[in-house]
Amino acid sequence: MAARLLERETTVARAVSYRGRGLHTGRPSRVTIRPAPAGTGIVFARCDLPRRHMIPARIDFVGTSRRATGLSCDGVGVLTVEHILAAVLWVGVDNALIEVEGEEVPLGDGSSRTFVELVEEAGIVELERERRALRVRTPVWVTRDEACAIALPVEDDVLRVSFTFVAAKPGMRSEHVHFNEVTPEVFKRDIAPARTVGFQWEVAALREKGLALGVGQDEAVIVGENGYVGHSRFPDEAARHKALDLLGDIALLGRVSGHFIGIGSGHALNHELARALSRAAERAM
Ligand SMILES: [Zn+2]
Repeated sequence: MAARLLERETTVARAVSYRGRGLHTGRPSRVTIRPAPAGTGIVFARCDLPRRHMIPARIDFVGTSRRATGLSCDGVGVLTVEHILAAVLWVGVDNALIEVEGEEVPLGDGSSRTFVELVEEAGIVELERERRALRVRTPVWVTRDEACAIALPVEDDVLRVSFTFVAAKPGMRSEHVHFNEVTPEVFKRDIAPARTVGFQWEVAALREKGLALGVGQDEAVIVGENGYVGHSRFPDEAARHKALDLLGDIALLGRVSGHFIGIGSGHALNHELARALSRAAERAM
């Protein structure tokens, strides 16, 4: 039986750091996850600028949805937060200060695994405050072109995730994954190791545009017209990574329970769903 989430809020037991290159900028940066008091949530801090800037990891602070999630506050941003954010929250940490020395969070191994290991190295401690979660109370969905992101209520307060990675071209195979209960164990084993998705026919064009500069062959699952190119960690790694991105994006609501379903959705639609849920929660208050 997998361990249930703790009933009280948590933070990391000590500060831990990791240094690497950003996915899109390819520039070196360093992250440090530090303990934070109950009620803080997860907050990023840009520490490479003359003045320290705090950027809350909340849906209201999303600055860009283009191929990654970027947060921005008072004109200062931090890019590609979704993989570290998913790791911190869904491994079980409610409160943390994530310092970033650079404009982008390092890519790590292209998945959330690097950051899961970092949180495990730090350890998790309980705080004196009862843990609260945002419950999906009524179905909410958003659509764009053929894609769709849905949140449904669940009867048992769990976090459930399904994702369909829709074939990009005719003749290619679609992938579907379903996680009936995203416990920390399920997240660590089945979702966190899935790497960033790249399309073989897009890689050169992205680099020309100055994107994906930090990704090598090992940090991405490359989808070609006849299946994966190179090695994969799961037979459905692309769908698992998209489920990971969805979990990273809904982490901008804090802890949530409900059934989240993505059908061909990406960051922009995930953010729209999170905004719709945030508005629905405000109305219910
Ligand atoms: Zn991703």
